[in-house]
Amino acid sequence: MTNELYSGFEQGPMKPPSELNSLVFRFSRNCSWNKCTFCSLYKDNKFSFRPVNQIMDDINIVYKQAKSLMKLSRSQNEIPNEHFINFKKKVDKSEHVALHMARAWIEAGMKSIFIQDADGLELNPSDLIELLSYIKQCFPMTEKTTTFAKSHTIVGISDENLKKMADAGLNQITIGIETGSEEVLKLVKKGCSKSDHIKAGKKIKKAGITLSVNIMPGLGGEKYSIEHAKESADVINQINPDFIYLLSYVPPENTDPFTENTKKMCEMPTDSLIAKEICLFINSLDGITSTIESDHSLNLFEDVTGTLPLDKSKMMKSIEKFFTLDQKRQVIYQIGKRSGIFASIEDLNNTGKVRQVEQKCIQDGITRENLDQRLIEMKQKFV
Ligand code: SF4
Repeated sequence: MTNELYSGFEQGPMKPPSELNSLVFRFSRNCSWNKCTFCSLYKDNKFSFRPVNQIMDDINIVYKQAKSLMKLSRSQNEIPNEHFINFKKKVDKSEHVALHMARAWIEAGMKSIFIQDADGLELNPSDLIELLSYIKQCFPMTEKTTTFAKSHTIVGISDENLKKMADAGLNQITIGIETGSEEVLKLVKKGCSKSDHIKAGKKIKKAGITLSVNIMPGLGGEKYSIEHAKESADVINQINPDFIYLLSYVPPENTDPFTENTKKMCEMPTDSLIAKEICLFINSLDGITSTIESDHSLNLFEDVTGTLPLDKSKMMKSIEKFFTLDQKRQVIYQIGKRSGIFASIEDLNNTGKVRQVEQKCIQDGITRENLDQRLIEMKQKFV
């Protein structure tokens, strides 16, 4: 039990784009591990558990605000702005964040709840089950309650408790697998092994919870590219997760953990290397029915999307097209995509956009010699 005083509704810094309209409850602060070399999300922040009674207070605040706002809502859950503004005037300022969050959640159809921060399942299991049950009781209409969790944490939770968490409403977990290569896992200080990932994935599925996993193309650099692709596919083939999310590796800005901590990996991964790696990864997936998603601005191809096994070849179309281009057109595509001028490879057919990219190269002094470095800098802007 901690004597920490409650200082109002609290949110952590990380809310995935897919959870933009979710209710967010912060169970713990920052990351208890905080050593992965590719991640700067919580680097300067200290980890702590939040007291259960304070999380309950947060849930109560959101419940109170959501209940009041529902009375103001009209057709299709819309809350007229003038009513909202008038109502907000009566709400204490310390509850404004909760109020806005409740409005977005209602207007988006009251679909999902997200538990923060880096690992929502580190609290003691009985506290977690109590909190999840309370959330379910307050917001029974919610379809999805989800969190990030480390494989290591999942391995430490008994099957019985995981099933109780599922029964209490937790129906989706995302684990950052990043890679199945033991060597790369060690080099990037992920803090878990390939077998931890497999055990964790299987446990989540056994509990009847939807499993989403993140894979990080490029994380093994040039040296481990093939091993990273094949070993990651091997982990996935053994788990058959519901969703696989591809998020390409980019070294965090102002640091270069890649070279500091992973010198053995030799070269930074180029876009071409990452594209080939993704093809090898997808081609090595076998006997599974997962859905792959890649709609993140850090990815050179955001349309590597589909469900296995049927969409396997469709998913690689854009990448294959990229490799049929001559070098100049490949560079135009890379700069266009990284600068936000292009959304997909089809934009190469848009002469206006191609001209914009050519002008950008001249203005910014992008040359063959500095291309790779400039591409990394452009990617870092999206991190
Ligand atoms: S466990 Fe997750 S949040 Fe923590 S350092 Fe690693 S990637 Fe970042």
